[in-house]
Amino acid sequence: CGICGVVGTRPAAPLIFEALRRLEYRGYDSAGIATLGPQGIDRRRAAGKLDNLERVLHAAPLDGTTGIGHTRWATHGSPNETNAHPHAVGGVAVVHNGIIENYETLREELSAAGRVFTTETDTETVAQLVDSLLEQGLAPEEAAFRALRRLEGAYALAMIFTGHEGLMIGARHGAPLAVGIGEGEMFLGSDSLALAPLARKIAYLEDGDWCVLRPGGVVFHDARGEAVERPIQTVALIG
Ligand code: GLU
Repeated sequence: CGICGVVGTRPAAPLIFEALRRLEYRGYDSAGIATLGPQGIDRRRAAGKLDNLERVLHAAPLDGTTGIGHTRWATHGSPNETNAHPHAVGGVAVVHNGIIENYETLREELSAAGRVFTTETDTETVAQLVDSLLEQGLAPEEAAFRALRRLEGAYALAMIFTGHEGLMIGARHGAPLAVGIGEGEMFLGSDSLALAPLARKIAYLEDGDWCVLRPGGVVFHDARGEAVERPIQTVALIG
């Protein structure tokens, strides 16, 4: 139900956790964070309140300056830890707001190709699909773009990739997503509240847009994959 992502130079998990607190007002049943640590994608998830996730993070902190986080309002699959986002499959971790309407078709197709699903969510199909394209040798940007073209429904997505520190991809289709532009660090958030203390400059993805974020900048693409410009607003920094 709420998304936050960070690529930069500071430890990502504490920044993401505080952003999830600011997204609590939207309601949620579980939460989680994934970062790129020394061993690749590492994640912590918990059912229930953010206090539960906080305890898990306190017991086993997450390293890394690239990360994504999520508060979930379950639509497909019970609100337990297994179904909590981020969903990590092979070389990608994904957080998602919304519903992938054609997930059953995609799940059947990917299962037939030998992929084993471990959750009941519609979201796992996105992670499986992107990973299947990475496995074919595609770069993250191309894998994400091809996967997005197969998705039907409403989604805001954020993804990070094993072996690609300082890279995050976001996408918006029928669910809001904003980019926070910092100095040497970039952010994704469901709304300006999530981004408020992190970045003074904010740009909103238009419907069908996806974007590639690195610490030094963001490139927006439209649904056809063309690079596009999106207006940047300067907002008051709070917090
Ligand atoms: N449909 C996804 C799920 O049930 C995402 C729900 C949300 O927007 O939090 O896991």
